[in-house]
Amino acid sequence: MDKRDQLIQKLRNIAVKTPENDVEVPEKVEGFGTIEYGAQTCSACKKCILACEPAALDMDPTMNLPDYLKATIPHDGFRSKNRESLVTLLQGLREEGNVVAISVPDGLPGYGSIAWAADRCIACDKCIEACLEDCLTLEKTYKLPEIIGEVKPPPSITVSKDWEPFILCFVCWECSHAAADLAGLMHLHYPTNIRTIRIPCLGAVEPMHIMTALENGVDGVLLTGCLLSECHYGGDSPKAGNFMQYDFVKFWMDVLEEIGMGGRIHIDSASAAMGIKFADIVKEFTEKIQNLGPSPIRGKLEVR
Ligand code: SF4
Ligand code: SF4
Repeated sequence: MDKRDQLIQKLRNIAVKTPENDVEVPEKVEGFGTIEYGAQTCSACKKCILACEPAALDMDPTMNLPDYLKATIPHDGFRSKNRESLVTLLQGLREEGNVVAISVPDGLPGYGSIAWAADRCIACDKCIEACLEDCLTLEKTYKLPEIIGEVKPPPSITVSKDWEPFILCFVCWECSHAAADLAGLMHLHYPTNIRTIRIPCLGAVEPMHIMTALENGVDGVLLTGCLLSECHYGGDSPKAGNFMQYDFVKFWMDVLEEIGMGGRIHIDSASAAMGIKFADIVKEFTEKIQNLGPSPIRGKLEVR
């Protein structure tokens, strides 16, 4: 099982409701997207399939004729003249609604459709570069309902009256770890529900870390790093670890919302001198998780 498979498996493990909507992928977030395919100009050359390392594409031996009826032939024609003739012929013969998908006879080259597997695609663009007919585009949406499928709600759990949230907090060692230390030195009172994990930079936290925590019944995951524009490894570059992680966390928040785990991650910043702010971040997030209640994953874990 590769890293992508593992991540998707974790998402399926933590899903407590069937997702209904695709999720928008923020501009800076790479590796997630949807391949849109225009069958009309496809010459079934298979170049995209050969270019796709994760094997997210395959040749479907059918041709969906209604797609060809909808095609508009540009004034300078299609690059593939065979395909242009087929579209012209079909449009001359039939009205939309009367035609359906047809099977391509075994071994007939040049005909067929591209099938795309949402759960294998890493949005690398290689198929788009390989396609000479401009049939493929990458859209910044993540087809969550297709990837997760139907979800059975987990068994409900009994919440004991002395339940306290368990929160995992990733802190960067350049700033937020010092802010946490300062909060201690200042004898500030903040909830002891967090367990901190020190990391070099917020950018080092991978989705796998967050999903593994949630998969194991953690009630909430907090990430705190340097102030925006003050990342020790990227400064004010839009590609600095903390800038990048804000976009990633926004994406994962939307994904978690769709699968019934909304509100259980939060990202914030506190510089080394901001002990009070760090204590406030922890207090606010702990209150939020207290209101949400224990992770519904605990029901699944109890059964296991
Ligand atoms: S974007 Fe990359 S992974 Fe996705 S289908 Fe194209 S080549 Fe395959
Ligand atoms: S989508 Fe493009 S590269 Fe893929 S089979 Fe069709 S024409 Fe060839």
